[in-house]
Amino acid sequence: MKLLHKSGIRKKHIIIAIDGPAASGKSTTARKVAQRLGYTYIDTGAMYRSVTLKALRQGVLDEVRRFPENIADLLQEITIHFDGDTVLLDGRDVTSDIRDNRVSREVSFISSLKPVRDKLVEMQQELGRQGSVVMDGRDIGTVVFPDAELKIFLVADARERARRRYAELVAKSPEGSEYPDIDQLEEEIKRRDRDDEEREHAPLKKHPEAYEIDTSSLTIERQVDSVYSLAVDIQKRGR
Ligand code: C5P
Repeated sequence: MKLLHKSGIRKKHIIIAIDGPAASGKSTTARKVAQRLGYTYIDTGAMYRSVTLKALRQGVLDEVRRFPENIADLLQEITIHFDGDTVLLDGRDVTSDIRDNRVSREVSFISSLKPVRDKLVEMQQELGRQGSVVMDGRDIGTVVFPDAELKIFLVADARERARRRYAELVAKSPEGSEYPDIDQLEEEIKRRDRDDEEREHAPLKKHPEAYEIDTSSLTIERQVDSVYSLAVDIQKRGR
């Protein structure tokens, strides 16, 4: 879809797909780029986390491990909505619950299941149908929107990613609580990447046309500027 901008230049409503491993800076970058462009940001990881939370709450994880096809029951009656940064699962705010450690440990298993992927990919394609979205995840450029006008693959050194996760957790934890162990965080991040890369359906991988940006030693501002400039260029070219 094209729109006549006040400058008289036709601007295209593009889709920006941002993929990459855990804690590589995707959500921060995607959210800020979306703000600058006046686009909608969609965090697809939050959707896989919501399904995982629902499975944990219903106590069906062990059953699904034995009979993966049984996940279909849970998917039949699920709604996931975004209201700004708030994530609503079946109408309830789960924004902080989906960041729980138990969810982080199980999410790679749940997201490896084909019925889960089929259902969420369909929802994501619907959310992005009109364009003007920045969507981040693991398979946005490869599966959800292979025709996205701009595809980005963010990477960063595993130790640096563990440091970022550590800082995030320390900032969020109440005073007096125990600090997380950075080595353990690094191990968890690496394990999740391995699971996401090795799964059969829609594994984490870079689309051949994606721009790879290593954020290990970049500031957030630099990451945002790079993606924003690429987006504006494409909008102006109308492709
Ligand atoms: O982005 P975040 O780290 O919150 O994602 C949590 C998990 O959800 C990932 O480790 C991955 O297993 C799954 N995921 C996925 N496909 C996406 C987004 C997330 O499989 N598009």
